[in-house]
Formats: sequence, C-alpha cells, structure tokens
Amino acid sequence: MTSRRMVLAAVAVVALAAFGVNAQSPDEVQQAVDGAYAKFKDLKEGKNADYIPALAKVDPNLFGIAVVTTDGKVYTAGDVSTEVSIQSISKVFTMAQVIQEQGLESVEKRIGVDATGARFNSIIAVEGVRTVVGTGAPEMNPLVNPGAISATSMVTGASADDVWRKIIGFHTDAAGRPLNVLQDVYKSESDTNQRNQAIGALMLAYGYIKSNWEQAVDLYTRQCSIGVNAKDLATMAATLAAGGKNPVTGKQVLDASKVPGVLAVMATAGLYDDSGKWLYHTGLPAKSGVGGGLLAVSPGKFGIAVVSPPLDDAGNSVRAQRAIAAISNALGGNPYAAKARNSN
Ligand code: GLN
Repeated sequence: MTSRRMVLAAVAVVALAAFGVNAQSPDEVQQAVDGAYAKFKDLKEGKNADYIPALAKVDPNLFGIAVVTTDGKVYTAGDVSTEVSIQSISKVFTMAQVIQEQGLESVEKRIGVDATGARFNSIIAVEGVRTVVGTGAPEMNPLVNPGAISATSMVTGASADDVWRKIIGFHTDAAGRPLNVLQDVYKSESDTNQRNQAIGALMLAYGYIKSNWEQAVDLYTRQCSIGVNAKDLATMAATLAAGGKNPVTGKQVLDASKVPGVLAVMATAGLYDDSGKWLYHTGLPAKSGVGGGLLAVSPGKFGIAVVSPPLDDAGNSVRAQRAIAAISNALGGNPYAAKARNSN
C-alpha cells in the first residue's frame, strides 16, 4: 500500500469508529436532538398526572432529551439532570430481572405476555383474565399494574430488604449510576395506592401472586418512586439496545438472549392502549411512566428518552412521544424500516 492509501485507510477506520454502528455523524445526531428540542419546547398540551398527589406538583415545563448510542456516546438537550419518578418504566426492569433470574418462560407462564387492551390499573382486566388453553397461563403482561405487581412478587429474596436491594441494583446497573427513591413520591403514592392494594389482593385471591401481596405492592410502589433523569432513562434504554450491556459502563446487565423477549413485551404493551399507534409510527419498543418519562429502544443503534410531565388521555407524555418519534425517524431508528439490498 502506498503511504497515501494507508493514510486514507486509517482515516476511514477512524471515521467508522467515530460514527459507530450508526449511519449518522455525531453532529447529525446532535442536530436531530436539538431540532426536536426547539420544535417541541413550547408545546403545552397535556396535563401532569394528579391521582398521585406528588406528581401534580412537578414542574410541567421540565423538558429534557437524551440519546445514548450503542457505542456509548451521549447526546442531550434541555434539562437532563432533574429527576422525576420512574413510575411504570420500572416495570420493564423488574420484569427483565425476573427473566434474567428465572428465564423467559417464568414470566410467560405466571403472568403472560399479551396486551390486556385495558387501562394500566384496570381491575376488570383481572376479573376478565383469560387463560391459555392447555397451560392455564393467564393472558396478562408485566407492564400493566396487575402483572407488574406479580413480577415484583416473583423477585426472590430472604426479606423485603433483600428483594429491594436486587430491584434497585438492577435499575442502577442499567442506568450506570446509583439511583435512589424520591421519598416524597413514595410517601404520596403509599398514602393513596388503595387501588393497587386491591389489585394485589385480587391477584393473590386468583393465585397469580403466590404469597405476601402487601410486600409486593409496597416494593412495587417503591420501585415506581425511583428518581431518574432523561440521561438515566436513555442509558437504560441503550442497555437494551446494546444486547443487555450498558454501553457507557460496559457492564452486562441482562443476557443478550433475554433482550428480544423484553423488547417484545414493550412493543406490545409499553404505551398502554396507545401501544399499537405508537408502534405504527415509530416501530420502537418503548415504555412510558406517569411521572412524565418515556424511553424507547432502537435495537443495535440507540436508546432514547425524554422527560416531560404533561400526559395525554392514555397516560403518556405528549412532548416525549413527539420528540422521540421525530428524532428516531430522523436517525432511521425504526427497526422495521430495513432498506432493500442494493438500494441507496
Ligand atoms: N405507580 C403508578 C401506579 O401504579 C405507575 C403507573 C404508570 O406509570 N402508568 O399507578
């Protein structure tokens, strides 16, 4: 090779390394993030959740966007350090932890992996649960409250503290920094979570929870109160995008073989009743929380998250949905949108 060719080859290698697995340059990714921030900054639609009193007090103007690529690069706009409660997004990681410990079949058999088509805290969904012919497995899923409380009850441990250490540990590993409970949210939700207590008791009555439903509801309430910012959520999403390995810390949090099952449940039920509509427009497995967070996963490419508390009628953050869809579509994040071979 001539020295000129060698230089060109070296430049190509450096460029590939810089752009990682993504087709865009870092500048293009940052532009997509900045563009969505500017476009949706003044959007005022939606309303904070208020059935948990502490959530009504969160600043509705809070708006932060983060993208973390599978090669560990972080792109942000707006406020990515203020924490909100993770709420239902925790359901993904507790489900993933159970799957990690007990296998994909454990969740499928005990809870199910089908959308319920009902609101996340529906009691009718528990009453009307159908079972799979032959196995008797319930047709619920771990991303709505009955299934999520059941998933929390499946995390093993000698005491409530042991179980909690595992739950918070898993979330911490996925986020890549130590996470803590927002005590005001935990107290507020504990004082007002009679509905979830009723769901827990009903799940025990039907045998979907095996014992100690009070402990399961309390730990579920605690996991929903974990404080996270947009960057944490994007890193958690990127961990799923990168085959279960946190791309910032390098820690393998979840076996790569378990990730597709987790993403499939997110695709099916991550945005409650609007999961189909979301998937139709973005193709991204995602999960929302009533605290205003939303994370989405572009497998092999990036994790993305937005924090913005005002929600739509289905309980999903309005600005988060718009911003994530815009950025992902700009970056070619839709996993269903494969290019034909030889096309440009
Ligand atoms: N902790 C909340 C609840 O159980 C979580 C709901 C959510 O984010 N959709 O009601």
